[in-house]
Amino acid sequence: MKIGILALQGSYYNHKHYFEQIGVETLLVKKPEQLDEIDGLIIPGGESTAIRRLIDRYHFMKDLKSFCSSKPVFGTCAGMILLAKENIGYPTHIGVLNVRLKRNAFGRQVHSFEETVHLKDIGDVEGIYIRAPYVEVAGDEVDVLGKHKDAIVAVKQNNILATSFHPELTEDYKIGKYFINLVDKYIKGE
Ligand code: GLN
Repeated sequence: MKIGILALQGSYYNHKHYFEQIGVETLLVKKPEQLDEIDGLIIPGGESTAIRRLIDRYHFMKDLKSFCSSKPVFGTCAGMILLAKENIGYPTHIGVLNVRLKRNAFGRQVHSFEETVHLKDIGDVEGIYIRAPYVEVAGDEVDVLGKHKDAIVAVKQNNILATSFHPELTEDYKIGKYFINLVDKYIKGE
């Protein structure tokens, strides 16, 4: 199994380290053709507008859309924004995750916070929120995995996992292992 991390901008090195700690092989994905070499993809946090600009500059969009429509993908924070079908007041990017998302929903950088969040099928995880979005409306096929107060902060839709928070900045590997398990199921065709 090889996990690719979209390495255009943002916290991709932290993700690489995080998945290496779990013991899985990783690949920093900087060119569209590298998507053929991986079994699952991480779209990291960072700045969604900047990542989108680089997606266009390196002609990633077509291949990213097809990867994210069929293979396991995990978007964190800006990654969740990039995956969403609707970003209130902002453009849609990859547009495969059926949610209406509110960007910068918890306030500015100074309002960053950490709080334990309970996730369905995963357990309690440490949530780090940095200018994070939340899901305002989730489509019928979207499984809500966790909430912070009333805000939806973790979702799963078939092959797609997305969180508002940054697991890669913690040493809590539960959600990473959950994703690896999902990738494993896709490899085995389950
Ligand atoms: N606020 C950023 C955005 O809109 C996301 C921040 C993050 O990924 N930590 O893209």
